[in-house]
Amino acid sequence: MTREIDKAAVVTAVNEAYTQYVKTAEGENASYIPYLKNIPPSLFGIAVCMADGERIEVGDTGYRFGIESVSKVPTAVLAMKQHGPQTVMRKIGADATGLPFNSIMAILLENDHPSTPLVNAGAITACSMIAPTGNSDAKWLAIKGFVEALCGFSVEVIDELYRSESATNFNNRSIAWLLKNYGRVYDDPDLSLDIYTRQCSIGITAAQLAVMAATIAADGRNPVTGCEVFPADIAPRIVSLMATVGFYERTGDWMFRTGLPAKSGVGGGIMGVAPGIMGIAAFAPPLDAAGNSVKAQKAVSYIAQRLGLNVYGSQRVTLRKPATVVA
Ligand code: GLU
Repeated sequence: MTREIDKAAVVTAVNEAYTQYVKTAEGENASYIPYLKNIPPSLFGIAVCMADGERIEVGDTGYRFGIESVSKVPTAVLAMKQHGPQTVMRKIGADATGLPFNSIMAILLENDHPSTPLVNAGAITACSMIAPTGNSDAKWLAIKGFVEALCGFSVEVIDELYRSESATNFNNRSIAWLLKNYGRVYDDPDLSLDIYTRQCSIGITAAQLAVMAATIAADGRNPVTGCEVFPADIAPRIVSLMATVGFYERTGDWMFRTGLPAKSGVGGGIMGVAPGIMGIAAFAPPLDAAGNSVKAQKAVSYIAQRLGLNVYGSQRVTLRKPATVVA
């Protein structure tokens, strides 16, 4: 069964989601990273980029917030592009941990691999794998450049956030060295951790994240710039990782409610991918107990349901092409 949607239906869904949740005041900003604690909690933006490049935005979609764990997605894609999905599978894995994002127990339980590139341990391993190894600046340029290609804009680290995270990331330091103990970090552990911390500190907007998600939805072709950013066979792999662990120990709840693969970050951002159809991003700083934005979850979930984007349903949504005018 297929159902066509057009831009007007998406505009309606996005506006309804914004109006419905703009006043929601549940949740708390992340406080374990001091910078994030002080972001105005009422910020709220929703952005959609369709697979044909059409964009729809409402609210604070131009505000630069910390990308945080959403950055694990582009680095996982880059690791697969550089080394192939099978090598990433062998060196990192593709399993849910069922545990919080920064779990040390997850590494102890699965010491043969760090489970998935979308939790802290696997993301630090992914950073260690990015070529060139042994050269922090060149590795960083590879990651930053790839984020820019995915979202079609230049991005920068938020220095204050980077300093704030670097001064307080004791748990992540333990993870990096525990991975070293298990032979699961493929570059210097401190260098790999620093690159991970930098990528989490990238400032991004909801508008940019929506384009990144749309590039994944469009099989690696950025629908705004027209550039081929990664091979199409990687797209279903990264989407499956997002569906498996995008919301950490709450991922099953999320997929049960929405059926939309998505990834959250403690900066308040969520990026959802409807394959072949669109990327959706929402941003609002206050989080639930698992570290996922309360308002962004509600907004993305509403849009997914309103438009019928559940990837597990029999209904296939397609984008209606604009009518061609015959002279
Ligand atoms: N930089 C954060 C950390 O490593 C990212 C966590 C997240 O967004 O889930 O703790």
